Amino acid sequence: METKSNSLSDLNLLVIAEDFDIVGNVEKGFISGAESVEVVTPCSRRVVFNDKDFDLLIAVGSENLLTFTKRVRSTLRNPILPLMWIASEESHILEKASDIYFLIDEENPELYKITKKILEIKSAVSMFGEMDINYTSLEVEQVNILRYMLSRKIMVATPVVSEHSKYGYIFPDLFTIGRYDTFSLLDSMESEKMLKGEFVDNIRICKNCGSAHIGLRKVCPNCGSSNIRMEDYIHHFRCGYLGPESDYRVAGSDKLICPKCKRELKHIGVDYDRPSQTYICNECGNIFEDPDYSYICFNCREVFKEDEAKKFIVKKYFITKFGEDLAFNGSAADVLLASAAESDPRFLAYDVFSVILDHEKKKAKRYGKRSCLLDLTLAVNGLSVMDIYDIISDTVSLLKLNLRETDMVSMLDRHIFVLLSETPCDKAKAFLKRIEKKLKMISEVKNSRVKISFELIEIKQ
Ligand SMILES: [Zn+2]
Ligand SMILES: [Zn+2]
Ligand SMILES: [Zn+2]
Repeated sequence: METKSNSLSDLNLLVIAEDFDIVGNVEKGFISGAESVEVVTPCSRRVVFNDKDFDLLIAVGSENLLTFTKRVRSTLRNPILPLMWIASEESHILEKASDIYFLIDEENPELYKITKKILEIKSAVSMFGEMDINYTSLEVEQVNILRYMLSRKIMVATPVVSEHSKYGYIFPDLFTIGRYDTFSLLDSMESEKMLKGEFVDNIRICKNCGSAHIGLRKVCPNCGSSNIRMEDYIHHFRCGYLGPESDYRVAGSDKLICPKCKRELKHIGVDYDRPSQTYICNECGNIFEDPDYSYICFNCREVFKEDEAKKFIVKKYFITKFGEDLAFNGSAADVLLASAAESDPRFLAYDVFSVILDHEKKKAKRYGKRSCLLDLTLAVNGLSVMDIYDIISDTVSLLKLNLRETDMVSMLDRHIFVLLSETPCDKAKAFLKRIEKKLKMISEVKNSRVKISFELIEIKQ
């Protein structure tokens, strides 16, 4: 029977370890059989690896390595590659944060299982189209999160409580992915309708640094000190004196002596009673019934009033249909092109369109037919993926209404191309005039941060 023990042999590995010694603990033949192995530790000088494609990321160590792994992963050309965790201690978080997980002293898992997993993820990732080259680094991160979730079949990203996290919660599934703060990243993706959030918890966080590690204390309303005590109020019937118990206490004795009439109080209910309780501040002596509440932040030491704490809603997130389309197509324009093409044969994928364009050029050369290419360019400034989606979507609807049956449309990056077949450019101007006003209206909707410019290109010999 054929042995598969060397199936790591064609893989390029990037090994992340707490130190070099621990790598030696991993069975020699297991890693050393690979095509190439690079090892990086938190002390390494080089932690950016965008110049090489790796097949598998291997982390060796404990949860301490999570943040470093996230950092290294974010520098990779393919940041959603598979991650195998060889754990030095048991951890549910590591199990969730990685694709393949086992303990360092456990017998090595069967290699075919590893290669199967790697292939699974690889083939899922290969379904994704090229990402829009105009995307900002934030947008690239957003699409990567979507792609990571889809390639791992994570239908919902669920937060769990963790003392190690600033917000008291973490997303273990997404722990090693993305270079930004996961909470704000997911939140931005919800406002762009790539994800749909659902309530999990409503917590209070520090008004200064946003940490959830804050403690609520009762404090003196006068000086703000938490050095306060509670005492019974004592009412002496005979003379009518009303004061806290400490007024009646005499040093070195356990008797209660009235500070006003100097008589001893003996029987509760007969000569005195305890009608209420009160707070007394050990710092300023203030006596009060209702204490203030204040928080102290264990992260930045900020002290602030109870109602000054910031509200923080923790959610779990589902991928929306738009998010899924965006992940697969790589750009909002492609999402729209794909959906427009489904219902309208005039909308073509760019590779098909460019073949037709070529053909049109040949026809022009051979028969002297003149066609015109309209190039609509969207110059967008600081607009979100969703805004751009809306603009392209409105433009597509406009084109659908105004195009002839023989015209063809495609999109590439921020360009929408319309091929007006057998129409010279001077005639195409009439068409342009029809849609120009509406195009202006579309571009004005988003506070004129978008400009749609157009150019007519004569297709001739
Ligand atoms: Zn703080
Ligand atoms: Zn006080
Ligand atoms: Zn008295």
